[in-house]
Amino acid sequence: MITCQAAPPTVLPPTIIAPVTAVISSTVVTPTTDTRAPTLAPTPAPTLAPPPAGTAAPAITEKPAAVLPTKPSPTLPPTPTPDNLPQIIGASYEGRPIYSYRFGSGPIPIVFVGGIHGGYEWNTILLAYQAMDYFTAQPSRIPANVTIFIIPVANPDGLFAVTQKEGDFAVTDLAEDTFPGRFNGRNVDLNRNWDCQWSATAVWRNQPVSGGSQPFSEPESRALRHFFLEKRPALVLFWHSAANGVFAAGCPETDGLSRQLATIFGSASGYPVYERFAYYPVTGDAGDWLSTQGIPSISIELKTHEALDWEENLAGMLALLAHYNKQLQ
Ligand SMILES: [Zn+2]
Repeated sequence: MITCQAAPPTVLPPTIIAPVTAVISSTVVTPTTDTRAPTLAPTPAPTLAPPPAGTAAPAITEKPAAVLPTKPSPTLPPTPTPDNLPQIIGASYEGRPIYSYRFGSGPIPIVFVGGIHGGYEWNTILLAYQAMDYFTAQPSRIPANVTIFIIPVANPDGLFAVTQKEGDFAVTDLAEDTFPGRFNGRNVDLNRNWDCQWSATAVWRNQPVSGGSQPFSEPESRALRHFFLEKRPALVLFWHSAANGVFAAGCPETDGLSRQLATIFGSASGYPVYERFAYYPVTGDAGDWLSTQGIPSISIELKTHEALDWEENLAGMLALLAHYNKQLQ
């Protein structure tokens, strides 16, 4: 149910959830002040071959082969290990790879996705890269029962359209007009291409956009679908800009777990939390489809098209991690 408007509308939708202040705030880990400049470039390694299927599992601490344990060993491993080696999960319409990066090694997967609206929402991509830098530097922030997957550029064609680069970019690389970067190489809006209330002709604000020739007509959507169904994440979080809010997924009704997670993120980050996106009809939304698969999803709309809102999003991410950490106790 996502939007990505140039500016938030002035009329509030009728179904706002009041931001909750009571829950989980006591367990939120204090964010560090590890802010970095937006131009800080991440370093995806496009030349690395993807690991073969099945190698995503964490390395298990080896034990001497000759020694048999006298009792079943406790859950492995005791400490999460950062692993920012990329996995290629698919390719765009124009053949650009889509990468996922793994952090931590716990049994609960959660996924953060930037740039489904490509270069038009380039700040969501730099935010995802900054999150990767953060969790690389601060692996202890990831609870032992969680694995984070970060897909920084879900729409690499759309990023290329405004940077003429793949992956890594600086703000100075951006074209003046970032509008065309919203779509993939076939001019399809990738957040209108999923199988929830899908329509070939979709709407973005007051203009028609292509939802594709059918649900999942686009290779990017299919790659993400495959990844999500394989991992069965406890949460998929999409970053968008710039309507300033947290939106829970649902198809058609708001999904309860998504609502709960949206509230956790919103309470910690300070973004207003919305149950429904009600500014205009949204068809074929990725998060809404995920909810039909029993996978909760939330979308974060940054405040502007330029700033990363790093402190807000770090607080939100750490609150989500604290939520899962509580399940360890
Ligand atoms: Zn968007």
